[in-house]
Amino acid sequence: MTPVSPFIRRPSRRVTVGGVAVGGGAPVVVQSMTNTDTADVEATVRQVAELWRAGSEIVRMTVNTEEAARAVPQIRERLDAQGCPVPLIGDFHFNGHKLLTAVPECAQALAKLRINPGNVGRGAKRDEQFATLIEFACKYDKPVRIGVNWGSLDQELLARMMDDNHLRPKPLEPEEVMRHALIASALESAARAEELGLPGDRIILSCKLSGVQDLIRVYRDLAARCDYPLHLGLTEAGLGSKGIVASTAALSVLLQEGIGDTIRVSLTPQPGEPRTLEVQVAQEILQTMGIRSFTPLVTACPGCGRTTSTYFQELAQKIQVWLRGQMPIWREQYPGVETMNVAVMGCVVNGPGESRHANVGISLPGTNEVPVAPVYVDGEKFVTLKGDRIAEEFQAIVDDYVQRKYGPGRNA
Ligand code: SF4
Repeated sequence: MTPVSPFIRRPSRRVTVGGVAVGGGAPVVVQSMTNTDTADVEATVRQVAELWRAGSEIVRMTVNTEEAARAVPQIRERLDAQGCPVPLIGDFHFNGHKLLTAVPECAQALAKLRINPGNVGRGAKRDEQFATLIEFACKYDKPVRIGVNWGSLDQELLARMMDDNHLRPKPLEPEEVMRHALIASALESAARAEELGLPGDRIILSCKLSGVQDLIRVYRDLAARCDYPLHLGLTEAGLGSKGIVASTAALSVLLQEGIGDTIRVSLTPQPGEPRTLEVQVAQEILQTMGIRSFTPLVTACPGCGRTTSTYFQELAQKIQVWLRGQMPIWREQYPGVETMNVAVMGCVVNGPGESRHANVGISLPGTNEVPVAPVYVDGEKFVTLKGDRIAEEFQAIVDDYVQRKYGPGRNA
């Protein structure tokens, strides 16, 4: 992948997660999470491999039962056997200490443990159970993400901070105290983990909320108060366009400020929608912001009354799906192809101009225009297509361009 970021990143320590660098100036890492039952080895292996092929560089899975903990080493083995090296993260809540004690091989097979300080335990048990998880991380040399979530914020800490707030001459609003409590939970837990022997360069932090403005405030504050790498994500972003827009809005503001070392887009899949959509959205956020490139992108006009058929929309979609589908192979064979731009335009108004700015562009005929489609390659008119096979011929031109421009020899 080619980092193309012009942004100044917040300085942070570098943490290595199963060979993937997070923070310390490394490219912002895309990660995702499975929604299969982790105990179902076959289904989980299939989904992890799908997420990895889609571009997820790290995949997290819940480890919620002893069956799930026992499945993790098998999942790792099966993925390795099929040539899928993606690092796996175990998400632990409530019983993580018991699961790792019963199945230590689970800790060994994972590349990182995610611990939610609000869900580790209550009272005195909390410290003990947190310490057990950190001991496993130390014993097996694993990094940890201390992942605070406002839906499961440590209630004892929040109550203590609310009490302290009442004693202030000018008490803060409860929402502000809650935001401070999220950050305190992350920082205090990180300090405790270091006291227990976990090196500081094995800790990643996150503080997730579901409100965009709250998330931005919390991460700005957290970023200013530590140099741990930060995992960004809007929790419970939601379904469909709402989830995509809310995640994009929140993450883009922070990324623009150089905050965020790894991102996950928490979409609720609509029925029948692939889990890989969250990977695609995360990549598109980074790519459209010019931070990293993953897949050639198609520039397409929105269409208007000058196009009375859906032909150009279908062509734009077909080309984008085809380009994305090629990437698992192209990524290896054609380095740099991920930065390519393809334009599919609906008529002569902006078509030739936009097409000239792309690596390869086509300007389709609008209503009442001569039924021909000029194709531009690297800004120059290359050929004019006509007839019934415009889509196929255009795809062949793009394919040929990729081989010439990015293939061995690169003689384009
Ligand atoms: S390029 Fe043509 S079809 Fe597309 S939006 Fe502009 S005027 Fe309409």
